[in-house]
This record gives sequence, C-alpha cells and structure tokens, in this order.
Amino acid sequence: MNPFAYERATAPEGAVHSLAADKNAKLLGGGTNLVDLMKQDVERPSTLIDITRLSALAHIEAVEGGHRVGALVRNSDLANDGDVRKTYPLLSQALLAGASAQLRNLATTGGNLMQRTRCYYFYDSALPACNKRAPGSGCGAVEGFNRVHAVLGQTDEGPAGAHTCIATNPSDMNVALAALHAVVEISGPKGKRTMPVREFHRLVGKTPQLDTNLQHDELITGVHLPASAAKFAANSYYLKARDRQSYAFALVSVAAGLEMDGGSIKSVALALGGVAHKPWTSEAAEKAMIGKPATEETFKAAAAAAMQGAKGYEHNAFKIELAKSCIVRAFTLAAQGTGNHGAEGAAA
Ligand code: SF4
Repeated sequence: MNPFAYERATAPEGAVHSLAADKNAKLLGGGTNLVDLMKQDVERPSTLIDITRLSALAHIEAVEGGHRVGALVRNSDLANDGDVRKTYPLLSQALLAGASAQLRNLATTGGNLMQRTRCYYFYDSALPACNKRAPGSGCGAVEGFNRVHAVLGQTDEGPAGAHTCIATNPSDMNVALAALHAVVEISGPKGKRTMPVREFHRLVGKTPQLDTNLQHDELITGVHLPASAAKFAANSYYLKARDRQSYAFALVSVAAGLEMDGGSIKSVALALGGVAHKPWTSEAAEKAMIGKPATEETFKAAAAAAMQGAKGYEHNAFKIELAKSCIVRAFTLAAQGTGNHGAEGAAA
C-alpha cells in the first residue's frame, strides 16, 4: 500500500475544502471498497479525509416530498428502517440482497453510490491492460474472461482501444435508487446541487476511468427518496441472479415496481443491474407496459424493449436471455404483491 496522509473532517464544508486542496485526496466513509482497492494498489490517494464523524449526514428523516437519507447512513440501517421498509420496500430488498451482513453494517449510502466495478482486470494491478485503472492501456476483459461484464451501453473498440471498457456497476442499492427516481444531494465549493441517480452514474463513452458525474471536489451529503415512489410499494420486487446464493455480485438484477389501476398498469419502475456501466433504465420498456394488463405477454414485450441493442461476449452472452427472463419473473412477482423480504435470507 502506498503511504498516505490522514485527516478527519469535522464539517461537510471542511471535507469539501480539503478535497479542493488536493486532487489526489479521497473521502473515507465505510471504507469497504476503497481500502480494498488501496491494498490492491489500484487506488493510491495522497490523503484520506475521514468523514465518518459528520453526524449530520447519518440520519434518515421524513422531509417535504419524501425522505432524506444521509450519505453516512449504513446500508443495514437503511434496509431495516421502518419507514423505508414500508414506503420503499424495493430499496430495502435490494440492500439486503447485497454483500454480507458484516459489510452492510459498515458500508454507507454515499459509499455505495461510489462503489467501483468488480472487473477482475481492474482489481489486479499486475495485469497491464485496463483503461479504467490505467487510461490508454487497453482492456483485458473484452477478449478475456468476461462473465460479469456489460452487454448494454459499453464502449468496445477492441482490446487495444483506448476507450474500451465493458465493466458493470456492481451495486444493488443503485439499481433500486434508479428505478425509484431517487436524487443525489451534493455539496461542493460552489454550493449545493442535486442530480437524479439515473444521471449520476455514467456510461463509458470516451472516459472509462470515470464512473460518475460527481466532481472531485464534491461531497455526497444525502439521497432524496421521492414520496411518489410509494405508489410502487404494494407491487415491487428486487430479483438478483448470481453465481451463488449469498455474498455474490449480480450477474443480472432487476428492480421492478408496478402501480396498478384496476386491471391495468398505470406506471412502472424498472432498472437493471449487472448489465451496464450504470444502472440500466429503459423508457421504452416502461412505456411498453403502461395501460396494459399485468400479463406475461406485456412483460415479455417490455423485456425485449429493455434489452434492445444488447451485445454479448464469449463468456457473458447468456446474460441477454437471462435478463429478459429476470425482467418477466420480477414483474410477475411484483404483480402478485409477493414483496421480497425473502431476499434477506438469500443475502448474507
Ligand atoms: Fe478495465 Fe473496464 Fe476493461 Fe475491466 S472492462 S479491464 S475495468 S477497461
């Protein structure tokens, strides 16, 4: 591990100031991802700014228009909060499907938003090619072992391409937040701003090294959960397909929510995990369900729309059909009002 300085922030403004003063500084929250990456010599911050004592960022509160989740709220506290379970069960289910109980007790909401890909080539600093870790070096995954990689929205210029990256965002929480139209609250040197979760994470484009649209000198202070997302509470389901039943990242995940109006679908929440560099959303798929009955035929049409343009590789082409099946299954269970606190048992 590289030597680094350590400082403890006593106020959000101080953390922002410290970030602005050092372009190689990083924020330390739960540390469940960053510290691993530092041990692997992938992340080499010059300074760690410890924000764990910023108690103002550690609360869940009802606010006008929904709920506010502080950036330092632990994943386990968020998943098990009574209001969240009742109003946003999809989020609770997604959190409980992620990581292990021990990790959820430490990982924070802000840190989960910033979680980096689990691409094997990114994590192994002994391997030469990874545009995300070393811009311009190429991509080891595109013609390598790419089982956990993207099938939608990736940049593929071949293994030597300077922009090629087929990595996926590994978070379960981010998928539910995208489906529910949550909004990230941000503080920076120029003041406060907000950004929808659907715009917070990036597709690769020509900048594979960047995962999000957060600037270096900005601090996530919280996440706003809109009250309007409560309309999906009765009919939602988080489905996660993975290689083993616990402590595994998604091959494909689906956050599905339906608002029913009698026998027809009034509105839809949908986001996919494990298939793209960001939680994948599809307005075409959501629109394909509006006004239709909650039937397998409707869900199959939505699945086809969501996966339009997908491209697989040697080891992950199966994800395309898997994702379609998962979308149909998730909406079928959502329509039944099955809920999904069965995910708790499968998570840790
Ligand atoms: Fe690196 Fe992205 Fe290629 Fe993985 S997929 S090796 S993260 S460039």
